[in-house]
Amino acid sequence: MEIFLTAKNKRNLDFLLNEDNRLIQNVLFWGEESIGKKTMALYLAERLLCQQRTKNNENCGQCQSCLMFKKNYHPDLLIVESQEKSISIEQIRQLINFFSLKPILASLKIAIIDEAEKLTVEAQNSLLKILEEPYFNDLIILITAYPQKLLPTIKSRLLNLRFIRAKNEEIREFLIEKMKIKQEKAQLIAENANGKIGEAIKMLDDDYWQEKQEAKKKLKELVKGNDFDKLMIISEIQEEQFSFLFKEWLDLLRPLAKEKILIEEPKRKILLKNLLEVYPFLDSTNLDRRLLVENIFLNI
Ligand SMILES: [Zn+2]
Repeated sequence: MEIFLTAKNKRNLDFLLNEDNRLIQNVLFWGEESIGKKTMALYLAERLLCQQRTKNNENCGQCQSCLMFKKNYHPDLLIVESQEKSISIEQIRQLINFFSLKPILASLKIAIIDEAEKLTVEAQNSLLKILEEPYFNDLIILITAYPQKLLPTIKSRLLNLRFIRAKNEEIREFLIEKMKIKQEKAQLIAENANGKIGEAIKMLDDDYWQEKQEAKKKLKELVKGNDFDKLMIISEIQEEQFSFLFKEWLDLLRPLAKEKILIEEPKRKILLKNLLEVYPFLDSTNLDRRLLVENIFLNI
């Protein structure tokens, strides 16, 4: 079964709850990066941890649990994130330990494993034991953009929910209603978010917004400039910027991107193809990213 979701509305997840407002089973949220998976996982956690949910089944925002959640310090919530590029078996042991004790404030405990593709094989095998536990009444949410990197045995024990991009309009509404952003700014961000709610949230940070504008400017210059200009621009890119730039450029070049007018058709397709080809290998340490970018842009 495949269920598609956008992160527009937290009530989207109501079907996951039974009459007692408990979650039916552990879940896997998967889909592209920055599409709202973690936002949704946190929404869900906040609601399930609340001690006195409203009639509409929303979190109350006032109980001790809600207040702790807002302070990013909830004793019944564990967020597991990668340390130095992977999630180790030691971190899963800590997770098992976390679940071995009774909840302190809420009626259940919740663990969110972000970037679950970074779980080592040992860590996944260890996690499997707790997922197989028949009397497990708490909740584990795995989040990943790369579900193919998870063991099939893990995936089959989770309800797999796929997140897809939202419409601009949905993102605009989300920003106005949930994030209390002014109409005009919400519109501008929505247009630049390419359907990704997580990306829209990041754009509320001015530095991040600026970085995105820079990436766009660089792409334009790299397409239009002569070879000398191109080499100059590429020489000024910092090593740690490459993966961000690639991600941005791929978004700007995809067929439905709003900005596609800036590059004429055959060129756009070739660029997109070349960037996509190397993108999966961008993190490998022995790769000369600068040379790679030179090759891609000097040849168009
Ligand atoms: Zn509450």
